[in-house]
Amino acid sequence: MGKGMQVVSTGSALRDILLGDEQYAGRRVLVPTMGALHRGHLALVKHAREVAGPDGVVVVSIFVNPIQFDREDDLEAYPRPLETDLMQCQAAGVDVVFVPDVREMYAHDRSTLVTENSLSRSLCGAARPGHFDGVCTVVLKLFMLSACHAAVFGEKDFQQLAIIRRMVRDLDVPVEIVESPTIRESDGLALSSRNVRLSATHREDAPCIFRALNEAAKLHNAEGIIRHAMKRLGESEHLKIDYLTLVDAETLQPINDLKRPSILAAAVFYDNVRLIDHVRISPP
Ligand code: AMP
Repeated sequence: MGKGMQVVSTGSALRDILLGDEQYAGRRVLVPTMGALHRGHLALVKHAREVAGPDGVVVVSIFVNPIQFDREDDLEAYPRPLETDLMQCQAAGVDVVFVPDVREMYAHDRSTLVTENSLSRSLCGAARPGHFDGVCTVVLKLFMLSACHAAVFGEKDFQQLAIIRRMVRDLDVPVEIVESPTIRESDGLALSSRNVRLSATHREDAPCIFRALNEAAKLHNAEGIIRHAMKRLGESEHLKIDYLTLVDAETLQPINDLKRPSILAAAVFYDNVRLIDHVRISPP
């Protein structure tokens, strides 16, 4: 668009630009992130540009949202390389970066949360109480602040994506939700901002997550799939399984047969670094 990248830190400045400036009158597409940007995020930005079109506006938000963290140590250790992030946004052709601080986003006496009550019961929702309330609340706020027409989310966080789609449907939020595929390292490890916190040994071990899921997914019965993935993950002496669950791809409820499309999902800890991954399984 040739208008140069704007970086704003308040909701009112964001709305002034996006709603008050003629240059930003096109289709606005939001990419919500917590920063520490990697190629996965940049693929979302590229996808956002395609959805926005050449005259549209790509907005990236960078906000480490405290209310979606269930562990204080994880929030504190979350990487925050803002300068590098901004350079990456600039190079990727982002139009506006929204970088609010916590006080800007949350009043000290805030008392409203957005809660999804079905899809968020299993998997990460069960393992991290309150996590998806925090996600839904911040995402809805970012939708309102950016007045975006569409928003792009990674399939890597498939439960998050399903919950956001449900929230948008249930609350008639006028935002198109766009899904973008998972970007992986050449050894199969899904890119994540938390990967930089892995020790060299753990980084070397971590591709076993995706390998275990993929291998197991080739079997033809639910019990065998779980057993095989559990055995494979159990062979690593470095990781601790948080959950390994086979769920219905639509309801995200645990299942014990393969009659419908399903998802084999895992969360593991390397020390205090938690990684998630999943594979999709079609009925045999
Ligand atoms: P995060 O900064 O981790 O909150 O992620 C921001 C967005 O990037 C979410 O929509 C994620 O699903 C997406 N994302 C994170 N990692 C990847 C990846 N490896 N491939 C594609 N999208 C990703």
